[in-house]
Amino acid sequence: MKKRLIVVGAGLGGLSLALRAVSAGWQVTVLERSHQAGGKMNILAQDGYRFDTGPSLITLPHVFRQMFEECGVGTGSLRFRRLQPLTQYRFPDGERITYPDKLPAIASMLERLEPDGGRGYWRLMATAAKLFELSQRTFFQSSPFELPTSRQLQALVRSLRWFPLRNAWGNYSRTVERHIHSSYIRQIFNRYPTFVGSSPYRSPATLLVIPYLEFAHGGWYVDGGLYRIIETILGALRERGVMIATNADVVSIIERNRRVRGVCLASGDVVEADVVAFNGDATRAHTLLGMPPPPRLPERSMSGVVFLIGLRRQLPADVFHHTIAFSTDYRREFVELFDRMEFPSEPTVYLNVTSKTDSTTAPPSGETLFVMANAPAVEGRQWEHAIPMLWERMMRVLERSGIHIVESDIAVRSVWTPEHFERTYGMPGGSIYGFASHSYRTAFLRHPLRDRNVRGLYYVGGSTHPGGGTPMVVLSSKLVFDLIKRHEMDS
Ligand SMILES: Cc1cc2nc3c(=O)[nH]c(=O)nc-3n(C[C@H](O)[C@H](O)[C@H](O)COP(=O)(O)OP(=O)(O)OC[C@H]3O[C@@H](n4cnc5c(N)ncnc54)[C@H](O)[C@@H]3O)c2cc1C
Repeated sequence: MKKRLIVVGAGLGGLSLALRAVSAGWQVTVLERSHQAGGKMNILAQDGYRFDTGPSLITLPHVFRQMFEECGVGTGSLRFRRLQPLTQYRFPDGERITYPDKLPAIASMLERLEPDGGRGYWRLMATAAKLFELSQRTFFQSSPFELPTSRQLQALVRSLRWFPLRNAWGNYSRTVERHIHSSYIRQIFNRYPTFVGSSPYRSPATLLVIPYLEFAHGGWYVDGGLYRIIETILGALRERGVMIATNADVVSIIERNRRVRGVCLASGDVVEADVVAFNGDATRAHTLLGMPPPPRLPERSMSGVVFLIGLRRQLPADVFHHTIAFSTDYRREFVELFDRMEFPSEPTVYLNVTSKTDSTTAPPSGETLFVMANAPAVEGRQWEHAIPMLWERMMRVLERSGIHIVESDIAVRSVWTPEHFERTYGMPGGSIYGFASHSYRTAFLRHPLRDRNVRGLYYVGGSTHPGGGTPMVVLSSKLVFDLIKRHEMDS
């Protein structure tokens, strides 16, 4: 008899786990409460414009390729495209830096901006490279809550020779300031912790692995839009006979004698299983188990405000696929976001124009824009009334940077506030990456992948180990399935 797995949630993590399990011979059912699979990695198609509503940048594409290869999924039509150059940064004083990603160009940028020719920059990158190597051998291989296998233990012991990595301990922004002199490059570095919804002024220096990742492995787009990744997984799941039910809200996880038995849907239907994996926010699982909430939770990572804009006219050719328009006072922005829990009075704005790379995402002579600013994650806060203010503040910064969006050119406009994210995906306060990585504990000790009280219950996705962001979520599906194989095959 095939073992039965229910995956609650069709986010990238849930779908990746379903793919691994069905490819290993399990009978798999996916239950998703929203009307469309993909979770935060989703799509909006309207009047000839196609928008990715969540992720817009892929790092570590090999993590995706590896999964497809391990599961025997052909990826002929899935094309990862490295964007070169990746991002243009626009500063409030008019300076523009098109951040280079080739060694000679980086060296000449450093010659121009750093008095010591960039020695501090290379020192930071060298530390980050070692940290990344170390993570690959340890952190990406197993959850710290599980006993390591002998292979993992050996890898850990071998890696200890790198300690102490002097520059890896301490505060992120202060470490950057110690090594980098140019205010422009400091500011660019200080943006990376926001990739995991965190403040550079509160994060540990270990997050330097993020700029290193971009430097060493590049930033990628998928032709046709990033949702093509979800479509490829969905196609493979359907081919293999996985039942994927949307509009299927799981209201409780059924356990008896501390062993999971199945789930109950809002419709009252009960679906039985040997193993259940929850892909929603793991810190919310107690509500499905009828248990009291955990005592005190760490700070949530940031949410965002996103405007999806379909333009009838194209933006000038000097606007890149990824542009960052910085605010005048980055530090104040994070005080507003994390201390006052307010939307920044002057937000840094991220503009993603997929149609600059991929004309299939917009009608002829149109443009597809994803405009985003960070926002605080506050549970239950109502945002709808604030939309005109959010738009006005974000447009002011874009305009100062030289990018003008003319109202009469707008053919499609869709707004996503933290309230919208919270409601649609069940993310507390609309927080995008689970907890903020503001301490070593929250950066490295995420929610365990395996429930300690209920046998057969697992957690997968960005709120668990190793963390948020698409490649980490795919890695979490691998780690969870390794655990399921280890603990559930004989029971
Ligand atoms: C605006 C935005 C920009 C982003 N940018 C990037 C980026 O550029 N690069 C990057 O790598 N990452 C980015 N991310 C993060 C990335 O999208 C996420 O880390 C990843 O997609 C999360 O996947 P997940 O599997 O954890 O689950 P989620 O996407 O959170 O999916 C969980 C699913 O579970 C469902 N669910 C929850 N509870 C239940 C229930 N009780 N019953 C049934 N279903 C349930 C939810 O509806 C949801 O569909 C971005 C995210 C957002 C929102």
